[in-house]
Amino acid sequence: MNAIETLRADTPGCQHVIHFNNAGAGLMPGVVYDRHVQHLALERDIGGYESKEKHEAELAQVYVSAAKLINAKPNEIALMENATVAWIAAFTAIEFQPGDRILTAISSYDSNYLNFLRAKERFGVEIDVIPNDTDGQVDVAALKNMLDDRVKLVAITHVPTNGGTVNPAVEIGAVLANSKALYLLDACQSIGQLPVDVVEIGCDVLSTTGRKWLRGPRGTGFLYVKEEQLERLKPAVIDLHSALWQTPTSYTLDPTAKRFENWESNFAGYLALGTAIEYAIAQDPAQTWARVQSLSAAWRARLSAIETVTVQDIGKLQGGIVTFSSTKMDADSIKMALRARQMNVSMIGVGSTLLDSGPRQLPALVRASVHYYNTEAEQDQVAAAIRDVLGV
Ligand SMILES: *Cc1c(COP(=O)(O)O)cnc(C)c1O
Repeated sequence: MNAIETLRADTPGCQHVIHFNNAGAGLMPGVVYDRHVQHLALERDIGGYESKEKHEAELAQVYVSAAKLINAKPNEIALMENATVAWIAAFTAIEFQPGDRILTAISSYDSNYLNFLRAKERFGVEIDVIPNDTDGQVDVAALKNMLDDRVKLVAITHVPTNGGTVNPAVEIGAVLANSKALYLLDACQSIGQLPVDVVEIGCDVLSTTGRKWLRGPRGTGFLYVKEEQLERLKPAVIDLHSALWQTPTSYTLDPTAKRFENWESNFAGYLALGTAIEYAIAQDPAQTWARVQSLSAAWRARLSAIETVTVQDIGKLQGGIVTFSSTKMDADSIKMALRARQMNVSMIGVGSTLLDSGPRQLPALVRASVHYYNTEAEQDQVAAAIRDVLGV
């Protein structure tokens, strides 16, 4: 990893704000921004189609970069406009029958769970929630006992949106190795934060976004679909990019994961996503993860020392998403008071992970997520501001 001063100098936003909202959207490195606007300028100057054709080779390289990041093959990657669209493209490709079971985790992301409810309504599937173990992560032994022939899908959120937990994705993959169930991993909060290797994990499908820990532009993301699953997973809706209309009564699907893409796309964003992925690879995901873990541990310690503040993270292995509440002030007011001091955090409502926040009776939380380019000096400043805002 480059020196922290270099990483910060690469990041223009560091001059303007203390950014502890990396789980919302990481600050873009300058090179990512430059690649984005350069392509927009080319679209302005020579035309949208023409500029895309001019950079076809670089676009192909974005698939190579994404594949390299997660140890996949380029034909297993689809570039998408966000993680939700990627996840939904794969989810809706599953041909559910009445009585099929979906197993999911307590830390399920709200948009994912909403689609389980929708599938229950449409197809009569059963939704079963895997309990957490005593540490607060997916209980792998419980999952093993819940498996049967009716389980069609196991859908896990790798790192939940509302806390530091890292779910045991590799151990879950090992339990599912001999099962027919499809293993879908929502890696939206893990990619770019920690090393993710799809071969080691053994997931069939993975979805992620560009703007969070990868520090790419908004409106970008990607989907991974394991080669052996591509024949089985046919998109629910297709277009002239994902399929070829051969005769009035027949078509063939693209043989690669591109069968999940749309023809019309934000190519400037995708080129900049490629730059962001290469930047993340250059920092070495293992080193990024080591730094994020040590920064977040230091951050939790600082927050815990503030009167009336409770750090709400659970799980054995914890990463850069740090959440807390105070008995003195609600989360949104804390967020807005910090915003006025050029300090960015976000607010997590109870609905974003209802299966977790309900039973734990959590209030809305402040989410103050730290990436490798943040510093402990910034934590001192934000902690002092929180004390000031709370009057403690
Ligand atoms: C942010 C988030 C998503 C959605 O990502 P988008 O790119 O906004 O679609 C999905 N899952 C988790 C766990 C998230 O935190």
